[in-house]
Amino acid sequence: MKALVIGAGIGGLCAAVALKKVGIACDVFEAVAEIKPVGAAISIWPNGVKCMNHLGMGDIMDRCGGPMHYIAYQDYQQGRIMTRFSLKPLVNRVGERPCPVARAELQGQMLDFWGRKSVQFGKRVNRIEENAGGVSAYFSDGSVAQGDFLIAADGTHSVIRPYVLGYTPERRYAGYVNWNGLVPIDETIAPADQWTTFVGEGKRVSLMPVADGRFYFFFDVPLPKGLAEDRQSVRQDLQRYFSGWCLPVQQLIERIDQQTTNRIEIHDIDPFNQLVRGRVALLGDAGHSTTPDIGQGGCAAMEDAVVLGQVLASHDRIESALLNYQQQRRDRVRDLVLKARKRCDITHGKEMPQTQAWYEELRQETGEHIIDGLCDTVLGGPLA
Ligand SMILES: Cc1cc2nc3c(=O)[nH]c(=O)nc-3n(C[C@H](O)[C@H](O)[C@H](O)COP(=O)(O)OP(=O)(O)OC[C@H]3O[C@@H](n4cnc5c(N)ncnc54)[C@H](O)[C@@H]3O)c2cc1C
Repeated sequence: MKALVIGAGIGGLCAAVALKKVGIACDVFEAVAEIKPVGAAISIWPNGVKCMNHLGMGDIMDRCGGPMHYIAYQDYQQGRIMTRFSLKPLVNRVGERPCPVARAELQGQMLDFWGRKSVQFGKRVNRIEENAGGVSAYFSDGSVAQGDFLIAADGTHSVIRPYVLGYTPERRYAGYVNWNGLVPIDETIAPADQWTTFVGEGKRVSLMPVADGRFYFFFDVPLPKGLAEDRQSVRQDLQRYFSGWCLPVQQLIERIDQQTTNRIEIHDIDPFNQLVRGRVALLGDAGHSTTPDIGQGGCAAMEDAVVLGQVLASHDRIESALLNYQQQRRDRVRDLVLKARKRCDITHGKEMPQTQAWYEELRQETGEHIIDGLCDTVLGGPLA
């Protein structure tokens, strides 16, 4: 039996590893000649780390994961701590730790694990077709590949999604812009073992430690879509948006490298019910595009891959295995997308009184409420 896996991002590589683990051969096709991740880093929460362990890639988490042991929220003007608490209760309750990782390193090491030579780069799928022999994928270079089934891990702009759904869903602008990058850790800005977030005015500035003494930073600002801003003006833009914010935020803006700071308009897609049609399954962002507000898009792709491996190992017919995959994943990924959307709106001042109420809650927070929310998300995964 042979699977075609389209896309060599986090989702495609996890899927390929999961299939190989249950004895299914895969051909992996990637549109670009070289993977250039869209964000600087990503937090893999314990549900994702468990999936990486299950897939045999736990060492990558150990090598790339930063020492994030505390969470703190600080007020934007004075930098005063609103709440600070240990992540130990989370780790104790769910049995695994969260791992913030530099994205290029994560994806690079996943590629090495799978085998770079086993990915066919520069192969962009234009369309697919199911036939008696299985599934054919047609590429922009005129070539065709044939497999028994196909996993579409071709990301948020998936060209295969409309085949599965029978329509093309719109991406929805979430109302804010995110800038992100990496800087060397500087403890005058934030502690080296803490996820620190400055909040105010519906904006946020966040720092998370990744391996090798670096902070992953991001800035979020509610803004209209399509502003003419680019790399050249990042520092000036951030100084303007964060004028009046406390000293650590100003120091961070000084430290950033404009050339490597990403600017992304954040989108998601309304959840849909169908993840499978015949012998074709959507996986990762192709199947569920979420805002990054609960840090679960990549983790959910890892979960998808684990479940895919499990169903294919336990069903004789591919179609029934994939339908079972859809059944197991549909509600879970819908919940994650909608939970992230709700958090997005509260964090980014969609209704400012709600956001102000959240700032007040943070001042009363002992950690329990936030840890409960994190546990709820993490324990909804397949390896809870
Ligand atoms: C700012 C930001 C922060 C985030 N933070 C987190 C976080 O902290 N934690 C978390 O878990 N998630 C986070 N996410 C989400 C996470 O990045 C995505 O969910 C994850 O990368 C999805 O992986 P994927 O493999 O499904 O898609 P992608 O990473 O988009 O990979 C798709 C691959 O398919 C290829 N491809 C596309 N079209 C074709 C085609 N036609 N033919 C062949 N190949 C094709 C692409 O080149 C790409 O390599 C964040 C996202 C953003 C934008």
